[in-house]
Amino acid sequence: MKLDSYWLDTAPVFSEGVQGPVEGRADVVVIGGGFTGLSAALELATRGVSVTVLEAGRIASEASGRNGGQCNTGVAQDFASLAAKVGLEQARSFYRAYESAVASVESIVSRHQIDCDLVRTGKLKLAAKPGHFEKLARTYEVLRREVDPEVELIPPDRMRSEIGSDGFHGGLLQRNGVQMHMGKFGVGLAQAATRHGARIFEGAAVTQLKRLDGERYELTSARGVIRADRVLVATGASRVGPLQWFQRRMAPVGSFIVVTEPLSTQQLDAFFPHRRSYVTSLNIGNYFRVTPDNRLLWGGRARFAMSNPRSDEKSGNVLRKGLAKYFPELANTRIDYCWGGLIDITVDRLPRAGQHEGLYYSMGYSGHGVQMSTHMGRMMADMMSGSEQANPWRSLPWPAVPGHAGRAWTLPLVGAYYRLQDILF
Ligand SMILES: Cc1cc2nc3c(=O)[nH]c(=O)nc-3n(C[C@H](O)[C@H](O)[C@H](O)COP(=O)(O)OP(=O)(O)OC[C@H]3O[C@@H](n4cnc5c(N)ncnc54)[C@H](O)[C@@H]3O)c2cc1C
Repeated sequence: MKLDSYWLDTAPVFSEGVQGPVEGRADVVVIGGGFTGLSAALELATRGVSVTVLEAGRIASEASGRNGGQCNTGVAQDFASLAAKVGLEQARSFYRAYESAVASVESIVSRHQIDCDLVRTGKLKLAAKPGHFEKLARTYEVLRREVDPEVELIPPDRMRSEIGSDGFHGGLLQRNGVQMHMGKFGVGLAQAATRHGARIFEGAAVTQLKRLDGERYELTSARGVIRADRVLVATGASRVGPLQWFQRRMAPVGSFIVVTEPLSTQQLDAFFPHRRSYVTSLNIGNYFRVTPDNRLLWGGRARFAMSNPRSDEKSGNVLRKGLAKYFPELANTRIDYCWGGLIDITVDRLPRAGQHEGLYYSMGYSGHGVQMSTHMGRMMADMMSGSEQANPWRSLPWPAVPGHAGRAWTLPLVGAYYRLQDILF
């Protein structure tokens, strides 16, 4: 078993990065080469803006290359609960922002001919307890009436046409969702950006950020110093560099994944006939899908712990047991990959984007960021051209997470709370 991301292990190598030192100036410097930063760089470069990306490690090798591979519509929280908190109109606009985000991914892939195995599959949310189906049915009514007429409720007696497991008690199908190979998409984005003139430096962690006169900035990185008129902070859950203001506003939470050996077509047809993206209804639940080469990718929070190879392996064992519980026939299937990553969670699980002390930023996607990070990269390019309205999250204040200084000491407590909720409700 490789303690490495399947997406990164099976992606082509990005070899178009700049080899020399970081120096000179750019109209825009983007800090972070995940989907947010690469998508922004691509959009800016196609508009003729001179843009440099400074990436601490390899491009798309953090959350963007370590995720569950789901690219769906829908906000991270239940739509009805969100509408109760922020009002129906606002909740609708957030939901539509996710629809636009899926469309952004599709249009970037098609416009730049990125070879990343993109397919339209939809997402099936699975009721893990009988009572959860009642909640899904209520959500279905509100979604269908208010914002998504395509949504479908799958009653318990029709579940076998959707999934080869008796562990679920009905489901909610949202059709507007795609799947792709995350590693190929990341490399494809970076290659398209460089083709349009963006300069990408890997191994260039930004360690210092100084504001000069007016709107200009000087950034010191591991590979040299550069000046920029504008800076986009696209650093996700990272705790590297001089970005504490952002780090205090998101809790980094570990999420973990295992990937099996390739399954036979017969097995896939029996268990996952429509090859959808699946997510269970528990707080500490699971997400899963089939990879382009027919493996099962099975992920979840597993343990409230940070990600490192030892921790990932322990989480992998928890995940394997969960997989066997829902699909006993796959209990002895070989696990070929196991890894983890950090999710940038805000208190209300909604993203944040805007400007702080002149720096542009977009982050806090709270585990629903494949589509939104890609979309927001484009939107940040619009914002830098003066279009405030392009930012769907502009109305949201962003207080610090109470008692959180950027570290993760609260994780076990949060984990215990959610586990208890799953047992009780
Ligand atoms: C295990 C896991 C499963 C997930 N599953 C899903 C899913 O199925 N569906 C979904 O929609 N979302 C999912 N997500 C979330 C999604 O992957 C992210 O929201 C999205 O990729 C965020 O992209 P990003 O570019 O903002 O951040 P990242 O991909 O984290 O990129 C940030 C980059 O900034 C770099 N950086 C940080 N600090 C510095 C610095 N000081 N100088 C230079 N560079 C720096 C980092 O090295 C990193 O490459 C998952 C995340 C994880 C971890």
